[in-house]
Amino acid sequence: MTNPEEPRAKEVLRLLPSVDAVLQSETAARLVPEAGKGRLTGLVRTVLSDLRLRVLAEPSLSEGDERSVRLRLLETASSMTAEYWNESKGQRLQRVINATGVIVHTNLGRAPLSESARRAILEEAGRYCNLEYDLAAGTRGARGARAEGLICEATGAEAALIVNNCAAATMIVLKALAEGGEAVVSRGELVEIGGDFRVPDVMAQSGVRIREVGTTNRTRLSDYEDAAGPETRMYLKVHTSNFKVIGFTESPSIRELSDSAHERGLLLYEDAGSGAIVDLADHGLADEPLIQKSLEAGADVVTFSGDKLLGGMQAGIIVGRADVVSKVRRHPLYRALRVDKLIYAGIEATLESFLRGTHFKDVPVLRMMVTSKGELMSRSEGFAARIAERTGGLLRIGLKEGTFAVGGGSAPGAFPESILVTLSSTSLSPNRMESSLRRSKPPVIARIEDETLVLDLRTVFEDEEDELLDALASLVA
Ligand SMILES: *Cc1c(COP(=O)(O)O)cnc(C)c1O
Repeated sequence: MTNPEEPRAKEVLRLLPSVDAVLQSETAARLVPEAGKGRLTGLVRTVLSDLRLRVLAEPSLSEGDERSVRLRLLETASSMTAEYWNESKGQRLQRVINATGVIVHTNLGRAPLSESARRAILEEAGRYCNLEYDLAAGTRGARGARAEGLICEATGAEAALIVNNCAAATMIVLKALAEGGEAVVSRGELVEIGGDFRVPDVMAQSGVRIREVGTTNRTRLSDYEDAAGPETRMYLKVHTSNFKVIGFTESPSIRELSDSAHERGLLLYEDAGSGAIVDLADHGLADEPLIQKSLEAGADVVTFSGDKLLGGMQAGIIVGRADVVSKVRRHPLYRALRVDKLIYAGIEATLESFLRGTHFKDVPVLRMMVTSKGELMSRSEGFAARIAERTGGLLRIGLKEGTFAVGGGSAPGAFPESILVTLSSTSLSPNRMESSLRRSKPPVIARIEDETLVLDLRTVFEDEEDELLDALASLVA
């Protein structure tokens, strides 16, 4: 069957504007300084080929005399150009307001940085810096020495080394210390930690054979000892991070494991993951191993992330005995896994907060974790009143008790109490509100719970409250 509009539409294709005509339109010309001429030209070509298809599919575009069709197509092409540009710009890496109450949110960049870390990155390391230069001697200096020194000071380790992330740390530690040999590991710790990190796979990649011992819920010291043989290089202890086995469980302590390993000339390596260097037991996080405790109890090497409970940069931190860490540093893989100057700058600044004792105030992850229910209640009450004032009764606003999550695979099963601001409207569904907030500038990421939109101010910075308020007001504007 032939479409009666078709011959006409095909004729209309002749009336499509040229690339230059679109570029010269007021709308498109305004984008040139921002996008660049070359890029915008490419975008206009895409627009015109999409518009070609639209002309064939939408008869309304071809209505009227030749002059008005030409004009309409030019206007459509220019506004499509602006639309496409804004869409591609919206995907750039940008700040978002995290109102989810998930503190170390993997999708939202994990740990937000302290003010001093942000300043250090931008102002100290963002131009030339003394990354590998000894200012006192005027000669080449050791890369990362200051950051490593601060990590040792904070954890009591003899030596430290920083690589790209904890996965990289695990990989290089296994390779440098046990490649070609065996590592004894409990069946309860052969875990997957988010997406692509599976302990057995990392071990295989490192060329280390797994000697699995014990069962999912119980592994005894004697299981490790019975498995240790001439090929064994280490006992590996993995913090199970994102899940928890409760009930009939047993595993030997770090002290028992290290004594046993050392009697046999083996190493004890602990992958601690989240990297708590301050005790968080009073804040509902009793299960996170403290790095300094593991080292005191005799672990030879411990690895953890820089952007989970440490609240700093994406990095894998390796701490332990000087001879052991030095062996890892000398491995050729280190050159491929070492970090950038910005990372050192951020880590130095973050650790200074811990060493100064101001971490619960300065480091956002920790500050958010220890914010009490009472503090959050009074902040939420104040904010709810401001929403009511701004939206003039068009939103139903409430407060309720709920929970927050540390996230990032830390403290599974711990859902400490939080206060949530609830928002509903007779004219807008929760999903509609959630998606509009996501499209505001800056985007606001909220949560839907029991068919209601909820905001947890715990993860919202105080200086973001005005922007959040604007976004909420425009929901009902
Ligand atoms: C999170 C985690 C990792 C991976 O850390 P990244 O910094 O994401 O690479 C490895 N091991 C454990 C135990 C973890 O919790």
